[in-house]
Amino acid sequence: MHINDAVFLEDLCPKFRLRQWRKSIHRFTGKSCIYCGKPSESIDHVLPRSQGGLSTTENCVPACLSCNGDKSDENALFWYRRQKFYDPRRAMAIRAWLEGDLRLAIRLLQWANPNFEVNKKNYEKDESKYKAA
Ligand SMILES: [Zn+2]
Repeated sequence: MHINDAVFLEDLCPKFRLRQWRKSIHRFTGKSCIYCGKPSESIDHVLPRSQGGLSTTENCVPACLSCNGDKSDENALFWYRRQKFYDPRRAMAIRAWLEGDLRLAIRLLQWANPNFEVNKKNYEKDESKYKAA
């Protein structure tokens, strides 16, 4: 996707849809942080907004407050590589997520964490909504 073609969700959607969108992001990972697997409490911009990162599903991942705060304005993939909880499967999942392949991202996260549970029904519902949007 070319950067100029990206849709700015904040510009298009009223607050209600923004909230729904945030919820659906958390649901993709079963409300767990994409970096460390702890409960996700926030949405993290993989490429920080200060570096031109967009508020699109591809650039926004569920993250716990600790990871989100620690990462701050750094590029997520560079930051993640230095963490003690670094897991190459999660790194691959983050890459897949960035490319918009949420299905692959979720499969990789499941592989990284066998206890990881996804409400498949919700996921498929959200995915069709995401494609239609
Ligand atoms: Zn975390």
